[in-house]
Amino acid sequence: MHVVSSDIIILGGGLVGLTTAIGLEQAGFSVTVVDHLPKGEFELSAFDGRSSALAYAPCQLLDVLGIWDYIKDHAQPILEIRVTDGRRPSLMHLHFDNEELGDGPLGHLVENRHTRLALMKRLEACENVTWLDGQSVKNIERDTGRVTLELETGSLVTGALLVGADGRHSMVRKWAEFPLTHWSYQQSGIVCTIEHEESHCGIAHEKFLPSGPFAILPLTGNRSSIVWSEKTHLVDTVMGLSDRAFESELQRRVGDFLGKVSVIGGRWAYPLQLHWCDHFVDNRVTLIGDACHGMHPIAGQGLNLGLRDVAALVEVLTKNARSGMDIGSLTVLEEYQMWRRMDNAMLLSVTDGLTHLFSNDHSIIKQARTAGLALVNEIPMAKKFFMSHARGTIGELPELLKGNRP
Ligand SMILES: Cc1cc2nc3c(=O)[nH]c(=O)nc-3n(C[C@H](O)[C@H](O)[C@H](O)COP(=O)(O)OP(=O)(O)OC[C@H]3O[C@@H](n4cnc5c(N)ncnc54)[C@H](O)[C@@H]3O)c2cc1C
Repeated sequence: MHVVSSDIIILGGGLVGLTTAIGLEQAGFSVTVVDHLPKGEFELSAFDGRSSALAYAPCQLLDVLGIWDYIKDHAQPILEIRVTDGRRPSLMHLHFDNEELGDGPLGHLVENRHTRLALMKRLEACENVTWLDGQSVKNIERDTGRVTLELETGSLVTGALLVGADGRHSMVRKWAEFPLTHWSYQQSGIVCTIEHEESHCGIAHEKFLPSGPFAILPLTGNRSSIVWSEKTHLVDTVMGLSDRAFESELQRRVGDFLGKVSVIGGRWAYPLQLHWCDHFVDNRVTLIGDACHGMHPIAGQGLNLGLRDVAALVEVLTKNARSGMDIGSLTVLEEYQMWRRMDNAMLLSVTDGLTHLFSNDHSIIKQARTAGLALVNEIPMAKKFFMSHARGTIGELPELLKGNRP
């Protein structure tokens, strides 16, 4: 029987799982990543049409782990964020400008496929990571000292710790019986990339429309990524529009400040929900990324939160291993849970509140939130607070998010 043994097993080789593998290997651990999809699928541009707004602090982590070198040519700095309530610009708006902080861009916009390819390239230089792609797990077992995955092929994968990075339908979460809180927003995020005549000047736009938030996010060149939140019952209709009708509906929503827009590549629809585990560690097992939490993309924070998990987990495991502790023990994993729980809960509740507030077309709520946007725009302290959140530089940061090794 074939047995693969390492310090740590990661189930799920998505953006969070692969970053975790690189971070842990760099810290001196041997790692096995298991994913049920074959590597070839990750390389297809049709695999994931999303782009992610990566905040400043997670970019620091990617840099210190040597991943940013492979991303930087595809990364568009975000210089400003403009938030408006409704289709047209109005005096009642919110405007974040990186020059107000004087500390570099607010973040970068990167297509997920480029981040994934960068991670795969970086992994080639990680001698202590074994990546088992296209492998389904049949069974998971643990005893006092080890956790073991039995694969469908009959091979065994063992380690001192299992990290569940297997996304929103996490098998690890179900196996460990971590309770999940979740609800649907009755919206889907329709995603596509557009090309336009005029430059976006590095400005991200978020418009709050009656169907939900509509984001125009700057990519390299004269291109932008669209996240169009639409009510569930209308999603099939929008996705079924002819290319011409879809483009003309997009143009109407974008407006004319970018000139004529045209769609490049496909369109995707992602059902939007909130899910959250308050308790996500046990003996020899923990969750990370979307396996542990997921939110509406209104503030573009899901992956950023996952990368904050990575930084905290790498730091906790590294420090405890140095002092001779068992990295799969509950005592060590509770340290990680304690560090991440509050940050996760805060961001999820703020995002949830914003989603409800800005997906509501009641006239009194509309007037109140428009006035709220204008008010925040006029208070420098409040703006600085929101900008620090957008850059991910608030709270007790793990070393990797500050650009240092733990
Ligand atoms: C429309 C939209 C826009 C977004 N925009 C942003 C943004 O601008 N900024 C931001 O920070 N976040 C954004 N997000 C959130 C972000 O995309 C996710 O948080 C992130 O992709 C989660 O990564 P992950 O690796 O945790 O999970 P996933 O990407 O879901 O990866 C899970 C991996 O596990 C594997 N897997 C699953 N089950 C198993 C199994 N049983 N066995 C083996 N392998 C398994 C899968 O194949 C996959 O490779 C957005 C989300 C949406 C829907």
